[in-house]
Amino acid sequence: MTTSQVGDQDRSELLPRTAMFIDGEWCAASDGRTRSVDNPATEATLASVPLATAADLDRALAAAADGFARWRRASAWERSDVLRRMAFAIREQADRFALVMTLEQGKPVAQARGEVLASADQFDWYADEARRIYGRTVDGHRTDTRILVRREPVGPVAAFAPWNFPSLLSARKIAPAVAAGCSVVVMAPIEAPFSTLLFAEVAEQVGLPAGVLNIVTGEPPAVSRHLIESPVIRKVSLTGSVPVGVELAKLAATGMKTVSMELGGHAPVLVFPDADVRRAATVAALGKFRNAGQVCIAASRFIVHESVSEEFTEVFVEATRKLRVGDGRADGVDVGPLSTAGRRAAVQELVEDAVGRGATVRFGGSAPEEFQVGYFFTPTVLTDVEPDMRVMNEEPFGPIAPITTFVGFDEAIALGNATPYGLGGFVFTEDLTTAFRASEELEVGMVGVNHLTIATAEAPFGGVKVSGYGREGGTEGIDSYTVTKYTSMLLGERP
Ligand code: NAD
Repeated sequence: MTTSQVGDQDRSELLPRTAMFIDGEWCAASDGRTRSVDNPATEATLASVPLATAADLDRALAAAADGFARWRRASAWERSDVLRRMAFAIREQADRFALVMTLEQGKPVAQARGEVLASADQFDWYADEARRIYGRTVDGHRTDTRILVRREPVGPVAAFAPWNFPSLLSARKIAPAVAAGCSVVVMAPIEAPFSTLLFAEVAEQVGLPAGVLNIVTGEPPAVSRHLIESPVIRKVSLTGSVPVGVELAKLAATGMKTVSMELGGHAPVLVFPDADVRRAATVAALGKFRNAGQVCIAASRFIVHESVSEEFTEVFVEATRKLRVGDGRADGVDVGPLSTAGRRAAVQELVEDAVGRGATVRFGGSAPEEFQVGYFFTPTVLTDVEPDMRVMNEEPFGPIAPITTFVGFDEAIALGNATPYGLGGFVFTEDLTTAFRASEELEVGMVGVNHLTIATAEAPFGGVKVSGYGREGGTEGIDSYTVTKYTSMLLGERP
């Protein structure tokens, strides 16, 4: 089946079971309630998923407690083997998984396929990390004691993944949890749950023991509160918005649970006068509008030296004009719809605020007229942008590119650091000193120099400031799924 042939009638063959996955069983909500999931390109209902009740969540928690008791005793090689087989299974089914994601979330199918393969990378990466959870021995004060330091799994994890990368952002939590010997209850994003539920199919296919991976769907505030307040849960991991992160961190604090938070950003892109300006503008436009701009590390505020800003803007606008907006299933589409009607309304408001305060729309600025249905928004380029405009301060999470200018290095850094966010930052320059100085002075967790594609399984992904704490990926990724225990052994007399 080719992408463009996938019609409404084919959904049932593509989607996973429209149920929750608890203790190795697929199940409906105990009271039968459901919520529909829509295709953002057509606004048609794809299918419905259960709304978990408190009783359902209690079953998931009990399963996670049992699953943890078993899985913590599995050998590192066994955990590694399961993860490796999950990675293979995901790659083998990448075409189907990508179509599911396009249907529920809207991104073009080629981008969805790239995300599915990146999810497989997470499972592969943590298959290796599972066997590298090293302890150490320490020589202490006394010659008759031995201090052994060991890293043990933290316990059952409650994981919350958002709708913008519904496969990768779940994988970033499931894979390290399973690698470390934890069990996990994942709340699939209610807006786009099927990409996460597909991991339950994969777990069944490779024989992950029941209870190690549980996936629930439901009303986010009720589900997150119930799971985090349970004494079963020992760690909370969220990728989402700052307000939700603050809320969940407060809940976790009450039970002294460890927390990882990845809460989005508003990444500055500093373009210095010595940069390859045409290349920078082309790369920036393609990167900005990937996944319709709904990317936490998206290049988001373009801060360009005034001597090259007009050249940068012209090339950026030309690259933007060439992007094809449409249903992600159609061949050649670069920009799909926004994921929800609410997102499109929020993006429109940001544009109106900027224009009302004097910004110039160089391209786009509204929903394209040719679509009668679907949450589409034309990729938009704004200039004459001022620091007090909302688009320069709030994470736009949509296809808006504000371009502003600077004169000196210090001004560029000050503008780059001017928001409370600190996830990603980007620097375009051909000068080594500028590259080092700027990447060190940006208050962010990750920097890309002369490119934007910095998210990869082998690197520690995460932010500073309100963008959160904790790292996913790299050798750091497994740390927060383990706790350190030391044992001091007193030896007897030398025989
Ligand atoms: P939102 O804050 O309403 O929701 C964000 C996500 O959190 C959704 O998946 C939602 O279902 C879930 N959520 C909401 N309340 C929750 C709760 N109490 N417990 C657990 N999960 C909860 O925002 P939105 O309009 O859906 O998304 C836009 C904003 O979200 C963006 O501005 C961006 O800041 C943020 N976001 C960030 C990321 C990221 O990768 N860091 C991903 C998605 C959304």
